[in-house]
This record gives sequence, structure tokens and C-alpha cells, in this order.
Amino acid sequence: MKRRQPSAPRQLTIFESVRDARRDVDTRVTHPPESFRPDLKNGLVWCPYCAMTTLFAWDDRLKEPRCPRCSAGAADYYVARINRLDTDDACQDFVRGVRRAGLSFERPLFFEK
Ligand SMILES: [Zn+2]
Repeated sequence: MKRRQPSAPRQLTIFESVRDARRDVDTRVTHPPESFRPDLKNGLVWCPYCAMTTLFAWDDRLKEPRCPRCSAGAADYYVARINRLDTDDACQDFVRGVRRAGLSFERPLFFEK
């Protein structure tokens, strides 16, 4: 009977690293009060993970607005849905607003720490 070779240690793919990192991320989503309206032209939106109105920062590496506290990006499902980033016009207004506000995102992303 032929014995199986012990398999060589395998390097994690980027997908596995991201999946493993996500297990540690608190993904509870908080919705804003009924009266909340995002102020896209000034870069002010509701961050569903920080549960507060947040001035987003510009991430120049990934070319996307991002929450300076929790790193959630504008393309995140809940960020986009809650803040009505569902049209090209809304996205462009938001990007311009964030860039004009001038806050830049410099931290490593959660899976790079
Ligand atoms: Zn946040």
C-alpha cells in the first residue's frame, strides 16, 4: 500500500486571509434615526458600523471614501444603501464632497494589520 505524502504547508490565498479577518470584525449594523438625511455634498453620511453621522475620509489608494474609524467604504452594502448611494450622481456628489472636506484615509485596512 502506498503511503500518502504529507502535504506541504499551503500559503493562504488573499480570499482566505480576508475571510479569516472578517470573522473578527463586528458586523452589527445600526440604522440611523428616521429623520436622518445624508449630506453627500459635504461628505457626511451615516456609518452603520460606528452608529453615527461621520465625515468620511478619502482613501487615495483604493480611490474610495472610507469611514476613518472602522474603514467601511462607500461601496459597502449597508453604507451605500443607508446613504442612498444608488445612483452615479449620488456617488459623484459624495466623492466630491469627501475630497473637498479634505480628510484623508491613511490607516492600513483591517486585513493588512
Ligand atoms: Zn465607521
